[in-house]
Amino acid sequence: MIEPDKLLDGARVAAEIRDEVAAEVQALAARGVTPRLDVVLVGDDPASEVYVRSKAKASAELGMRSVTHALPASTGRAELEGLVDRLNADTEVHGILVQLPLPAAIPSAAILDRIDPGKDVDGFHPVNVGLLQQGRPRLVPCTPAGIMELLAREGIDPKGRRAVVVGRSDIVGKPMAMLLLHAHATVTLCHSRTADLAAATRSAEILIVAAGRRGLIGAEHVAPGAVVVDVGMHRVTDRAVVEKLFPGDPKKMAAFEKRGAVLCGDVDTTRVAPIAGRITPVPGGVGPLTIAMLMANTVRAATLRREETP
Ligand code: NAD
Repeated sequence: MIEPDKLLDGARVAAEIRDEVAAEVQALAARGVTPRLDVVLVGDDPASEVYVRSKAKASAELGMRSVTHALPASTGRAELEGLVDRLNADTEVHGILVQLPLPAAIPSAAILDRIDPGKDVDGFHPVNVGLLQQGRPRLVPCTPAGIMELLAREGIDPKGRRAVVVGRSDIVGKPMAMLLLHAHATVTLCHSRTADLAAATRSAEILIVAAGRRGLIGAEHVAPGAVVVDVGMHRVTDRAVVEKLFPGDPKKMAAFEKRGAVLCGDVDTTRVAPIAGRITPVPGGVGPLTIAMLMANTVRAATLRREETP
């Protein structure tokens, strides 16, 4: 349970961003442009299907167009490259997103490298990674970009503060560290081989956790008053684990009884929330921000193209 004055309300900030994006979509429509996001899904991973559906729904709600290209798991590399080439060349398409993970036989890096950097709304193309590194960001990965929006809109300025990021993935950890660095924080980037994780994380005034390990961050990892952002997302179906993570939390137990599962993050919120200054919930924290920023990136891609087209 998070006390209301400690809550970092990602869902509220995401709704704010979506309203702004919807207004930008209307302004573009008045100039004859409807932003379009094309999502490529290969195979039938159920989690990916859920993500892709929610992206299409969000696009429609904001007045954008969205096309999903669902391909069978047997799709070969050449076929997928052909589709990416066609979407790159299609002037109607502003954003291209290839849902990961791809089947093992297809090298993800080769596919992501092939996407036109101007349409790379995930911000994973080496050109966009390089621009971010140089401090002139164009299309920035959605999850870390959303976290920066959350901090800014909640009045948390990283300038001069000690920020610790747990996780060094290309999708979250590394771009997160870079964004915090550009916002003038003193950044430490931790990972699975960090020798004394708790010592590092206890030094954080701002702690961002994206390790993909359920409940990794406990009370011993957090300094009093720290801002804690939990990127992790796990579905827990084991009653004993739910009872351990959320003792005496009737809401979580009721949700578990109803659905047979509850969501939790990389942070043991029950034990960390009493120590933290501010903290994101799971769900309702980083997840909604990620999708809001995908919408914002699609509008940005459409706007940049319009500005660049003679
Ligand atoms: P990843 O598996 O690619 O990377 C995990 C990172 O954590 C690695 O760099 C690894 O070194 C580090 N790590 C693993 N165990 C550790 C440990 N014990 N101590 C310290 N570091 C450790 O994961 P990712 O794609 O960055 O995602 C991380 C988590 O965030 C996952 O739970 C994922 O589901 C979630 N996620 C959520 C959203 C969202 O929108 N809510 C978006 C992206 C990722």
